[in-house]
This record gives sequence, C-alpha cells and structure tokens, in this order.
Amino acid sequence: MLMTLYPRYFGTNPLPMHTYLCIRHGFLRRFSFPATVKIAIDKPVSCSEQYYYTNLLSSCKNLSSLKQIHGRLIALGLESDHSLEAKLLNLYSVYHGSVGGRLIFDFSKTPTVILWNSMIKVYNKSNLYREALVLYTDMLKQAIEPDNYTFPFVLKACTGSLCLEMGFSLHGEVVKRGFGLDGYICTGLIDMYCKFGYTEFAREVFNKMSERDVVAWNAMISGYSQVGDPKEALKVFREMQMVGIEANSVSLLNLFPSVCWLSSLVLCKCLHCFAIKREFELSVFNGLIDLYAKCGNVEASRRIFDRLLKRDDVSWGSLISAYSQNGYSVEALEIFGVLKRDKVRLNQVQIVGALLAATDLRDIEKGKEIHDYLIQRGTSLDIEVSTTLITMYAKCGNLNLAKELFNGIENGDLVAWSAMISALAHGEHPNEALQFFREMQNVNLKPNRVTIVSVLPSCAEISALKLGKSIHGYVMKVDMGMGLDVSIGTALVAMYVKCGCFSHAKLWFHEMPCKDVVTWNAMVNGYAQMGHAHKAMETFRHMQSVGLKLDSSTLVGLLPSCALLKAINNGNCIHGHAIKLGFESDLHVMNATIDMYAKCGCIGHAEKLFETEFVKDEISWNTMIAGYAQNGRPKDAVSIFCWMREKEELQPNLVSIVNIIPAYAQLAALNEGKTIHSYIKNMLTMSSLRKNAHSVLLSTAGIWDALIRDSPYLIGLGSYDITGPAADVNMMGYANTEQVASGVHFRLRARSFIVADSGGNRVVFVNLDACMASQLVTIKVLERLKARYGNLYNVQNVAISGIHTHAGPGGYLQYVVYLVTSLGFVRQSFDVIVDGIEKSIIEAHENLRPGSIFVNKGDLLDAGINRSPSAYLNNPAEERKKYKYNVDKEMTLLKFVDAEWGPVGTFNWFPTHGTSMSRTNSLISGDNKGAAARFMEDWYEQNQKRAQRMHSSLLGLSLNQISEIPRRVSWMISDQNANHKELIELAGSFQSPGGRPVTKLLGVSQRIRNSLKMSGHPSFVSAFCQSNVGDVSPNVLGAFCNDTGLPCDFNHSTCNGKNELCYGRGPGYPDEFESTRIIGERQFRKAVDLFNTASEQLKGKVEYRHTYVDFSKLEVSLSGGNGKQEVAKTCPAAMGFAFAAGTTDGPGAFDFKQGDDKGNPFWKLVRNVLKTPDKEQVDCQQPKPILLDTGEMKRPYDWAPSILPIQILRIGQMVILCVPGEFTTMAGRRLRDAVKTALINGGNGVFDGNMHVVIAGLTNSYSQYVTTLEEYQIQRYEGASTLYGPHTLSAYIQEFNKLATALTSGHPASPGPQPPDLLNKQISLLPPVVVDMTPPGTSFGDMDTDVPKNASFKRGDKVVASFWSACPRNDLLTEGSFAVVEKLSETDNKTWVPSYDDDDFCLRFKWGRPSRFSTHSYATLEWYIRQNAVPGVYRLTHYGAAKRIFGSIHHFTGSSSAFVVV
Ligand SMILES: [Zn+2]
Repeated sequence: MLMTLYPRYFGTNPLPMHTYLCIRHGFLRRFSFPATVKIAIDKPVSCSEQYYYTNLLSSCKNLSSLKQIHGRLIALGLESDHSLEAKLLNLYSVYHGSVGGRLIFDFSKTPTVILWNSMIKVYNKSNLYREALVLYTDMLKQAIEPDNYTFPFVLKACTGSLCLEMGFSLHGEVVKRGFGLDGYICTGLIDMYCKFGYTEFAREVFNKMSERDVVAWNAMISGYSQVGDPKEALKVFREMQMVGIEANSVSLLNLFPSVCWLSSLVLCKCLHCFAIKREFELSVFNGLIDLYAKCGNVEASRRIFDRLLKRDDVSWGSLISAYSQNGYSVEALEIFGVLKRDKVRLNQVQIVGALLAATDLRDIEKGKEIHDYLIQRGTSLDIEVSTTLITMYAKCGNLNLAKELFNGIENGDLVAWSAMISALAHGEHPNEALQFFREMQNVNLKPNRVTIVSVLPSCAEISALKLGKSIHGYVMKVDMGMGLDVSIGTALVAMYVKCGCFSHAKLWFHEMPCKDVVTWNAMVNGYAQMGHAHKAMETFRHMQSVGLKLDSSTLVGLLPSCALLKAINNGNCIHGHAIKLGFESDLHVMNATIDMYAKCGCIGHAEKLFETEFVKDEISWNTMIAGYAQNGRPKDAVSIFCWMREKEELQPNLVSIVNIIPAYAQLAALNEGKTIHSYIKNMLTMSSLRKNAHSVLLSTAGIWDALIRDSPYLIGLGSYDITGPAADVNMMGYANTEQVASGVHFRLRARSFIVADSGGNRVVFVNLDACMASQLVTIKVLERLKARYGNLYNVQNVAISGIHTHAGPGGYLQYVVYLVTSLGFVRQSFDVIVDGIEKSIIEAHENLRPGSIFVNKGDLLDAGINRSPSAYLNNPAEERKKYKYNVDKEMTLLKFVDAEWGPVGTFNWFPTHGTSMSRTNSLISGDNKGAAARFMEDWYEQNQKRAQRMHSSLLGLSLNQISEIPRRVSWMISDQNANHKELIELAGSFQSPGGRPVTKLLGVSQRIRNSLKMSGHPSFVSAFCQSNVGDVSPNVLGAFCNDTGLPCDFNHSTCNGKNELCYGRGPGYPDEFESTRIIGERQFRKAVDLFNTASEQLKGKVEYRHTYVDFSKLEVSLSGGNGKQEVAKTCPAAMGFAFAAGTTDGPGAFDFKQGDDKGNPFWKLVRNVLKTPDKEQVDCQQPKPILLDTGEMKRPYDWAPSILPIQILRIGQMVILCVPGEFTTMAGRRLRDAVKTALINGGNGVFDGNMHVVIAGLTNSYSQYVTTLEEYQIQRYEGASTLYGPHTLSAYIQEFNKLATALTSGHPASPGPQPPDLLNKQISLLPPVVVDMTPPGTSFGDMDTDVPKNASFKRGDKVVASFWSACPRNDLLTEGSFAVVEKLSETDNKTWVPSYDDDDFCLRFKWGRPSRFSTHSYATLEWYIRQNAVPGVYRLTHYGAAKRIFGSIHHFTGSSSAFVVV
C-alpha cells in the first residue's frame, strides 16, 4: 500500500514516514484559502481544471498560498499531473519549500529527469546540498541518465556542501558523458573550482571552452576576485573586452572585490566611467558607492549618491555603511537622522549601519535614539538587530542595558544567548561573557557551535585555561559532531595557544581529524605571537610539508615575530616563500615584509622592497615612514611623508601623523612640526573622525601646543630588568671570592631618561642597578644604539652610571683586576646588562613627548657618614670650614612632567655607598639605592595612580583595570576570629599540586608590576643615582670591633691593629636587610618630599661635551702657592697596600695577596704577570706604597684602564659631571666648584650662581677612587685606590675645565684617544650548568619542605617553603619572577591572584645545591608578611627553568599548600 502511495519513498532519501502522513493530513485538514484564492477556487470554471490551476499557480505569491493550492490539488487528485508536478516543484524551489517539493517528487509515479533536476534544484535553493547530492546518487542508482541541466545543479550542491572529492568525480562524469564542452556545465565547473580556491583548474576548464559567454567570463572574474587574486581578475576583465564580449553589470559587480583588494582609486574611477558610459543599472552604482568607500574615498561615494536619479534602500544603506566603515560615524548618523526625519521606513541594513556608527563613536545617546526609533516603530527586533543593539550597549560600557535587552528577548533561546555572549566577548568583556556562558548552562541550554566559537576567545583573553579546558571537555562529551568541527577545533587550538598552554594546543591540533589553513595559522601565529619564533617556523615548515595551501595570513602572522626577535634570517626565508607562492602583489604580505625588514634594522631591504612596483596603501607608506624614523633616518622619513602627501595625493591618517612626529622631533624641525601641528588642527575640525582618533589627535595637538608654548623639552623615560645570574657568579664590589650569588632579594633595573631641547640636542642618562659602569658595556651599548638610531645617540651624549650596589653579579667589566674574583668574564652578566640598557633607552626614546623638568634640592642628614674621617681632616682647615659636614648631605632631584600625563618619573643624585648589604650576603639586591627606587615607584603607582584611576573610573573608562589591580595593601583592621575557621578549612582544600611544566610566559605574566601598568601610559620611573661616594658609608652607626664591641681605631679603622674585625654598622644592625630598607627608605622619603615640592623649572639648552683622557701620563698644570705655575704628572695606575686592607664597609676587600690563590683558577692564570714597579713609578706614586702595579700589567690583557671618559651633560641650569670613579666628598666639591667657576666665567651670562652641578659617579667606565692631594697623603683605602698618583684629582679638574670651556665657547671637545675594546680577549672560567636533576620520585617544582599543615600566620611572621628546583642561570626570567606569593581570590575561591613577586622587598628567593657538584638543587621562598598585608588564603609559588641532559631548557612551576594569613 505504502509502496503505491509513495513510490519514491523506499531506496531514496526519505523523510520519516510519520512526517509524510502528517504533512499530507495537514494539507488536507488546513484547507483554508486566502480570500482571493478562495474566490478563484469557488468560482465555477469554464476551461479545463488543469489549465485553471496552472494559471492559479502562476499567480501564487508565497509559500503558504502555494501549500494551500497544493493541498487543493491533492484533494482533487490532480497532483500527479505531469505539467502541474513540474510547475509545483518549480514554485517550491522559488519559495524554498523542500518538504512540499519532496512530497510531490515522492508522489510522482514516473518522475522524469526534469523532475529529478527540479528536485535537486529545490534542495539547492533550501541550502540542503547534501540531500541534493544524495538525490543525484539515487538518480544514478535508478539508472536515470542525467542531462546537461542536471550537472550545473549538482555542481552547485557540491560547492554548497564543500565536497571537493565529489566535485572531482562529477567533473569526470561530465567528461565521460560528453558534456565537456557544454557552456552551462563548464561555467558550473568554473564556479565550483573557484569557490574551492582552485583557480588554476577553473582556468583550465575555461580555456578549453569553445564558446565563452559573458556568464563564463563573469564566473572567472568572480573566481579570481574571491580567492584574492585581483591582478588576474583584472586581466580576465580586459581579455574579455579584447575578444569582444561586452561586460554586463554582473561583470562589474564581480570585479569590485578585486578593486577593493587593490584599494586602487584609479581603478575605481575607470570602472565608474565605464559604468556611466554604458548606463548600467542602479545596482552597479550602489556597488560603486560601496567600492569607493572601501577604497577610502567616501567623498566620491557621496558624489555618486548625490547624482543618482533614482535611489533605493540599498543606495541609502550603502551610503550609511560607506560612512560608518570609514569612521565617518557622525555622517552615518546624520543620514540616519535625515531618513528618520523624512519618515522613510528604514530597512535593516540602514539600521544596523547606524547602530555600528553609534557603537564606533561609543555614542550611547545616539544608540538609544536608534533603539527608541525601533521601539516606536513597533517592529519586533530580529536577531541581527538585537545583537547589534546588545553589542552597542556592551561596547558603550552599559552592560546593564545590554543585559536588560537580552532579558527582553522573548524565549531567550540558544540564538539569543549566543548573541549575548558574542556581544560581550566582542565588547571586550570576557569575564561577563564567561559568566553568561555559565548561566546559560544553568538554564539548561546546551551551547552550540556558535556559542562555543564565540566564548573560547574570551577564555583566551583572560587566560581562563580551566574553563577553556572544561569547554573542550564539553565539546568532546556531547559530540554533536562538534568534535569534528573545524572552526571549533581551531578556536580550541587558538585558546590553548593564547593561554600559553602549547602542550594542549599541540595535542589537540594533532588529534583534529581535519584542519584547514586557519587551524594551521592559529598554531603558527600562536607560536609567533608568544615569541617562539623557531617553533613557529618549524610548524610553518610542517604545514608546507603536508601540502597545505598557505594563505597570506600565514605569512603576515609570521613576519612580525621575526621583526620582534630581529630574526632576519627567518624573515628572509619567509620573504622567499612569499615570492615563491606569488604573494608579491599581496599588499598585506608586502607591508608586513617591509615592516619586518625595517624593524630588523635592514632599512635598505625595506627601501628596495618599497620601491618595487606594487599598489601601495596608506599602511605601506606609514610602515616606511615609521621604518625610517626608527632607523635613525628622520630626514628620509620626512621626505617620504611629503612624497606621500604631494605626489601620491594620499591624505596622511592618524598613524602617519603619529609616525612622523618623532621624525620631526628627532630633527627638532620645529617649523615643520608646526605645519604638522596645523594639519592636525585641520583634521580635528573634520567631523568624520572617530572619537578615539579625535582624542589621540587632540593629545598630539596638545603636545605640540605645549611644546610650542611652554614645554621646553621632549622627555622620555624607560626602565628594564637587568637582574643577572642568581647562582654561581661572584658578586661585584667586595671582591670576596666566597660571596657568590644564590638567589634574589629584589630585582635590578636599568632606568633611563632622554631629554631633547627644541634645537634637537639631546642627552641620555642611564642609571644602572650595578656596582659601576663598565667600559666594555658602554662600548657595546653605543654600538647597538648606532645600529638602531644612527648617530642620534653616541658617545658624546649618552651617560651610563652605576649605583654601586655590592650585591649584583660581576664579570661584566673589561679590565683584569675587576674580573679576578668572578673567575673572569661572565657573558650572561654582561649580556643582560647591555640588553637591559638598550631596551630601557628604546623605551625612553619611544616615550619621548613634550614636557617640563623641575629641579629641587634638600639635605638628607642620616643616610651617610664619612668612613675615612682621618683622611678628610687632612684637607686644609680653611676649606673644611666652608662646609657643615664631612660628607655631602645634599640630594638634587629632577622631576619629569609629561605635558599631558603629568609626572612620569624622577632621578636624583645623592652620595652613599651601596654597602648596606654586607660582604657575606648572597642574594642579588639593589642595596639601599635600588630599594629606594623600588619603594618610590611602588609609592607612585599605588598612591598617585590610584587617584587617577578613581578619576577615570568615574568617567567609566577603565572599570576593567580597577578590578585587576591586585589588592596588596590593607587598611582594614581584621576581625581575628570572624571566619578564621572557615579560612583554615578553605586553605586545607588546597594541597600542594606538585611541580608541572609551564611556558616561560606564564611566569612572566605573574609579575605584579606588569598588571599594575596602565596601558598607553608609561610606567613611573624613579632612579636614585650615585654621586661623590668615595668616603661615604651608609653604615651610619659607625665602625665597631666585632670582638670587643668598641669603636675601631680612628686613624686606621683597626681593632688591636687588625682590620678584619672592624665593621661598620647600619641602622638595622645586625640585620643587613633591615639596614638596607632603612637607608633606602630615608632616601625615598627625602626624594618624595623634594618631588612633591619641586617648583624650579629647568630652562635653557641641552648640551654635552665628552672626551677620553689618557690618565697614565698626563701633564697637569698646578698653580703654586706664590702664583707660579708648576707642571706635575699623573702616573700609570697602581694600587697601594691600604687597598688590600679594605674599608669598614668591607674589610679586606680585593684581598688577593700573593699566595692567596686557593681555589681561584683565574688568579692562578694571571698572578705570574705581577710586576715589580720601577723607580720612576714608585716616585710618581709617592707616598703610596705600591701593592699592584696594575697600570703596567698587560697580560693576558690590560689589568687597569689608562684611557678614561669624562663628560658634561647640561639641561638648562642643571649640569651633570660624569666621572668614571668614586670621588671622595672633598674631591667632588673641588671638581664641582671648579666647573661652576669655569662655566660662569666663560658663559657670557648663560650661567649664574643658580646653577645646579651634580657629580654622577661610576659613570661610563670604572677606575676606582679619586681623593684630594691631602687625603692621598694619609693613604687610607680611598687614597690607596686612587690609581694615577697624587695629582689624579688635579688632572680631572684640568680636563673638566677644558670641557667646560668647549661648552661655553660652542666648540667641540677633542675626542681624545680611544679606549680599547677587549671583548674578544676576555677569558671565562666559570663552568656552565651541566644538567639539572631531581631526586628519584620527584619532579621539578615538587615540594622539598612544604608549609606546615593547616597553618595560620600573623602579619610580621615569616612563611618558608622549599621546592626541588634547577639552576637559575638556565633562564634569568628577565622581566619575570622566580617567586610569587599568590592570594586566593575571594570572589570565586578558585583563582590564585599574584600578590608579591621576587621584585618585592618582603619576598626572598634563595637557591642552593646540597653540595657543590650536585645536580640537585632547591629553591627556598621566604615571605616576611608585612603589617599591611590583606588577610586571606595564600600560597607560595616558584618558577624555574631546568637544563635537560641534552641541553634543552624546560620551564616549570610548583606551589606550596595553602595557608591562612590573619
Ligand atoms: Zn666604593
């Protein structure tokens, strides 16, 4: 029975049986016609029923009336009439009614091939491509011969169902059945191949066609346009005209995407003319509106629109989106206003366009107006409009309205939820997106593809790896085929990659059954973005080896990472691929390649590439402008900028302006700068700007306003981590072989400022958390700056000064005598310092903006005492009478104020030794000056910026940032017992998870100060610089004998004649950390005071003079007592006996007397060259008894410097004297006075008594001490370490006078002799890390000693935990952290929020091996809970890097069990 009723039912592609019955019954039951049809049916008919119904069907206007007529036909038994069948089926195809269509088809007794074709067409129309293909296979099975009409439909189904295999086999069928030359079929094949991206196959088919009509040509044009091969598309378009085929409107519309791709206004104009001449229809002109807009010429779009005789909805819609796409949001909204006013009923495209414009402007008022309009109109919002509205509210920051709107959506179904989640995700509210995702599951809705694809990026955004993983689990569990979905798979890979979880990404990537090029790109670009350039390249090669077609975004994604890593070889290689793959004409690839070359410093390559023939867009020009500016070629940047404006008639955009301004600033071309300034002002009057562009321009304009009006300087500050190896390396300063680094107290940094005046002169000052500057470091930094900026920064205007901490890793100096205890040169120490200085200068350079500088001075009494008062007393009484103290107590501070952002940093100079940490300390530390800098930067970030943040939060600008600031300080008085029990229980649920591998990045992201940083705003930089520190000790309690506790002998600092027992005591004695904190805090408080009250502004030129002087044989003119000039000489360097005795800060420093060579191979190597000084040298150095004649020892290379740099930097009335040594108090005073006098006398009124002269000690190179002639006679430690004899200071004064004269007279200083570059001669004897291991059964990061179970600590307590670890030399974790204190988030009781890291004073990272040659090692974390710590649940986490047996480095982490702080 069924077989006869439904003959097609079996063996085909059936609907379920009950559906059939229901449908049929439904048709019969719901037998109600619309009035018109009903009348027609009820009317008696004169002609045949068949004819009547054929006519009736022709008047059928929609699916429902069609269904009713169909029902009537079924009732009348006419449904199987052949002609009616075909007619019905065609109508079903028009109205996308696949079910009804199938009913007819299945009911047909002998379906003809026409009917089969029609049914396939019905499926196609309803996007049921797979069903169409199945039907085709059935057709073949039933031996129905397909005809030439069948194939175009089936090919379309193939394309629709993305079934390439089937496509190939169809092509075979076509040829086999002799349809190979059929125009329609060939066009179908072309279309299919193009849509699969195989244009070469399409072209082959096309070439073989005997007759090509316009449709075939159009298919070819469209194909090339779609795959992004615009040149070919244009070629085909031209060919077509050559062979005399007239292009129709479709040809043009197909070509438009290509023109768009090329962004060529010339082509736009050509096609525009073409269209006008041939009087094309409206759709073409609408397309042109869109095209001009996409090529950036909105004015042209507007002109076309204005000249249209007829306009339809699309014209208006095109204009609105033309405006909104180009950021002319104001105009877009204006048109919306016009349409609204004229009561034109707006269509969806127009409304969505207007909403996008409002979103873009963040104009919630306008957005609401559109929303109101929709409400007034009373139409129910469809999902696209709702989503756009929700997105608008979300992006405008009104999450409540977005949510309200969402809740208002009737039947909040899956689509609505997905829309809301995606709105939040795209509105940059990842947290809320995830929250909604969770809520959605709570209401028992199962996320679908769309939801999952839109929520995964949110996980990545906030690194919610756990949730990401659970979504992954969900996808695998529900298996709605989602596990196989390429876009979900790709989103998962991207999520893992962005969370830094490469192992999962890789695993899942390999498991994915099918991947497309986007998936591969996610992997490649993920590696690239995370800085794993090699992995990226490896994956990239793998991608090629599997024969996947690369697309341009693969290359575009890889190139920036090459640029970032300066990996020019990789860059070259990718450029090669681009050429090979024919992406030379791809604009994005070209731009990225040029950018890569420019950033790698190969500006020549970039230039050549830029000069090749390709259609350039604004980005190309901007890239080149920026490239020139960054590579120190401001003139070229300016000329190319002018070229772009004048010859190419391209309007510079925001980026061009931002890129060109530094070039003008570099040239200090104020007049040209003013031109740009007025240009910016013009831009500001254009209403078309986006709001954010407006504010950027406004600030830029403001900057130039300020520069022209009252900001006399450009200022820029920068800072970078230079913490060296925290293991095995000797500390620089005390020269105590036993003092070897084994952990971190807090991190070391290089902090820089750059100041330029309006004449373009500039100076750079770098303050280094290191014991001293090093000639070799200076040379290498200057080389790098030259490579990067040309001559902008050079030996003349760059000063690098050390703070004199005695707790930093050594081995980075040039001369032998300073390398003995570090076992020679230590490359890692050297590299991290050179890198850090360079990075801090780059940052300062990039931060250069107009601003002002204020200077302030004040006395700080309790941070330094004289440690050689007996020597000081030998200075003339008359001279001493002029000064209240026997050390300089004055701190001189510069405050840098950005014209827009306010204070951006401060540098001060104050003398006191970096010897608060003792000669037995082994933790890397910046000592008191590093501590002061850390305190002051934290003070500013936490207190000052907090105020700013509060302010901006009121403006609704950075709500996100506020919640992200880790709360590290509590103002609450905790209620001790309130929830103590619960907290203990909560803590108890977090046992130590054991060690696990991590990517390095995760460790870096835990760094507290990274999250404190406000985006777009430079960090506050505060530096505490060293001055004439020679005889100033921070151990202010005085020197005492360790055995008797009595003060040491005044003249010799000895205890019963022995120096080893005499130690200076800091204010925190006996706790050196406490002493460091107190002396640091005293400097910090004074600096804050001076910072807050600074009011004297620096005014005047920026100038500098620098020279090298050979101090080993310098003639010095001395004015004798009777006015007679005497000539004295300096001597080759030599160190006296008192040098070996050391000082009270470090008794026995450099204590390497002959014979004391135990355990130091470097000393063994060099001791044989010890030289006995000749008589001339002995006489010259009198009264110094010579211990080491270092100046005359040249093997294995120079022991001591003889050529030294001296330098004067001037910023208005501030003068900085850069000296390569430690001047004593009185020596410094004499030098300052002498230079001051010389400047006033020679300066023609430029300088007066209100000048501020500071000494920057230990700058550019190092040559130990400089005392006065009188102090030299006493031969204390400082006198014995004054290398070049009694007249060393006089030599300095004489040479500085020359520099001062050169400065006032405007003449250059003589460059002097060049110091040697001894890098290639350096000898390193420090053994490398061989391998790291853990005891059997443990892994890296596992606990060695956990915190006690159920522990609870009070503030002031110390928490200790130790982990199995590896040597910190494997990775210095620069800008990262070895140790973190994490606090359990109170909001979710799940997330661990970093609260303190190894840059915090209260957290110490200690590292050690059980024995010297053990491969095992452990890391101990000690947290001293501060009084203002926030109560809660905490844990200690350690990050490290282990070296495997084959030398590869693997990062790991581990955490202690949780504990409570009350
Ligand atoms: Zn010193």
